[in-house]
Amino acid sequence: MPRSLVMGGAGFLGSHLCDRLLEAGHEVICMDNLVTGSADNIAHLAGDRFQFINHDVTRTIQVDGPLDYVLNFASPASPVNYLKLPIATLKVGSFGTHNALGLARAKKAVFLMASTSEVYGDPKEHPQAETYWGNVNPIGPRSVYDEAKRYAEALTMAYHRTHQVDTRIARIFNTYGPRMGIDDGRAIPNFFKQAWTGKDLTVYGDGRQTRSFCYVTDLIEGIYRLLLSSEHDPVNIGNPKEMNLLEMAEKILQVTGSQSKIVFKPLPTDDPKVRQPNIARARELLQWQPQVDLDQGLRVTSEYFKSQLGGD
Ligand code: UDP
Repeated sequence: MPRSLVMGGAGFLGSHLCDRLLEAGHEVICMDNLVTGSADNIAHLAGDRFQFINHDVTRTIQVDGPLDYVLNFASPASPVNYLKLPIATLKVGSFGTHNALGLARAKKAVFLMASTSEVYGDPKEHPQAETYWGNVNPIGPRSVYDEAKRYAEALTMAYHRTHQVDTRIARIFNTYGPRMGIDDGRAIPNFFKQAWTGKDLTVYGDGRQTRSFCYVTDLIEGIYRLLLSSEHDPVNIGNPKEMNLLEMAEKILQVTGSQSKIVFKPLPTDDPKVRQPNIARARELLQWQPQVDLDQGLRVTSEYFKSQLGGD
């Protein structure tokens, strides 16, 4: 039975990854300090093949016994959270990733780094392919996340080249679905909460900035296939269907049937104007592409947020 460590396993993506690995027959150790993750996300997972360890991965990580896979999903990931936790975000991307790579090396485990489309910054190439080096402000407020992830990618490649660690790098684009933190400040949770509670939907800027949203089960399937591949260079995982934020707000009003209005608020500093993955590499290497369409994904997500608000 493969034995896997999921760092950040109580987070939005980490918990879905635990689900997927358990389904594939792994024994799963979930490590999280619950700073942005939640015990509720893994409450359904208690059992023989699942173990939770409350630990801050910026401190030395000790795991008894063998490990086949180490998956590093530990980090605040929403702009509101990483702006509240700037130094913790830099530390988890640097020290946390260093500890994880050291552990993977010692255990001769495959290592997978959850990187991000934020490595492309406010991109000057559109859509973004893995060959694009990005346009990141190294001292702006978002740099605590962007540069930590860029450093984590550099460290991952250095461990691969120097110590022959069997590494993978997933560049994850915007993802949504059940277990997103309702108060994490991202557009989709904000819009749902506002729609369900009769508040105005807050669109930042003129709402013409774009994102491309992937449903969580699609994303996790891409990650799982990358893990089983032998690809060391970064691979974009995301849904190429691009839309602007005003369209997303309108879509959420439609899905919820809410009478809320849309209001415009200032655009945060360095907010990327466009974002869309080029997934040609994932298609070719992993035979993967998203399956869930936006209406379908938003309906399930809507029910989740409604239940979080005590609405059913
Ligand atoms: N956004 C918005 N209203 C909100 C929250 C976010 O219009 O209440 C915008 C934000 O400015 C950005 C986009 O939605 O352009 C996506 O933001 P999010 O925080 O979800 O993630 P990002 O893609 O910026 O990491």
